[in-house]
Amino acid sequence: MTSTQLKGKTALVTGSTSGIGLGIARALAAQGANILFNGFGDAGEIEKLQAGVAGEFGVRTAYHNADMSKPAEIEAMMAFAAEKFGGIDVLVNNAGIQHVANVDEFPVEKWDAIIAINLSSAFHTSRLALPRMKAQNWGRIINLASVHGLVGSAGKSAYVAAKHGLVGLTKVTALETAQTGVTANAICPGFVLTPLVQKQVDARASADGLSNEAAKKALLSEKQPSADFVTPEQLGELAVFLCSDAAAQVRGAAWNMDGGWAAQ
Ligand code: NAD
Repeated sequence: MTSTQLKGKTALVTGSTSGIGLGIARALAAQGANILFNGFGDAGEIEKLQAGVAGEFGVRTAYHNADMSKPAEIEAMMAFAAEKFGGIDVLVNNAGIQHVANVDEFPVEKWDAIIAINLSSAFHTSRLALPRMKAQNWGRIINLASVHGLVGSAGKSAYVAAKHGLVGLTKVTALETAQTGVTANAICPGFVLTPLVQKQVDARASADGLSNEAAKKALLSEKQPSADFVTPEQLGELAVFLCSDAAAQVRGAAWNMDGGWAAQ
């Protein structure tokens, strides 16, 4: 069903060609927001995605291929957003990658890439989006952190450091905008079955000689008390709530949707 809560507003969702970003982009489009897609993938598939969302929800869509590890490309994307839509009203910092290895074996280039994509990119998009949001006295910044922004897990040093950093950046952004119509919050999902997590399922299956289903169960049972995955659609609805007037005083939160993971 299409609603009009975000009609006339434009949302940039980084990393929206897949997984959670795509779920959030669809949920915001369902509220009438124009969507600027970003992320990697096959050009034809991305074109279909854009046209599909535009047709289904009656909104304008565009795509920019900025590599979120490169500040100059992020600047080019924000200039493109200004030209195409007049600027960004809802900024969802979602692009992210994972690599699993112990600290003493962690590849240096993977550390640098994770910090750049999962943390620094949100600083760059935020610093470039905030002047317009402040000037119009309305804006929403939603940072896709993780339950790993709240707690650690062995083997995920760069990811946990980046996500804790992103929760910190969210708090500071929220404080600096506290007396304006701009809010900044973080969403902290537990396991969501996207390509990012399927890689971990595959690694588990081959390490322990498990089937795909058994490896999923093993991964969940260690961390997620609900023993069920969070879905991109559920996260999309949380993002819609954070954009609503009802959420105007939700500021600087790190809101987990994690099947009880962080409650342990
Ligand atoms: P995904 O792999 O399905 O999607 C990641 C998206 O980011 C893709 O669109 C990809 O093209 C894009 N991307 C990757 N590197 C990029 C780069 N350098 N520049 C531009 N785009 C880039 O992953 P996902 O699971 O949907 O993850 C989305 C976000 O949610 C990430 O920040 C991730 O850390 C976070 N998260 C995921 C889970 C989970 O269980 N899947 C849990 C908590 C948090």
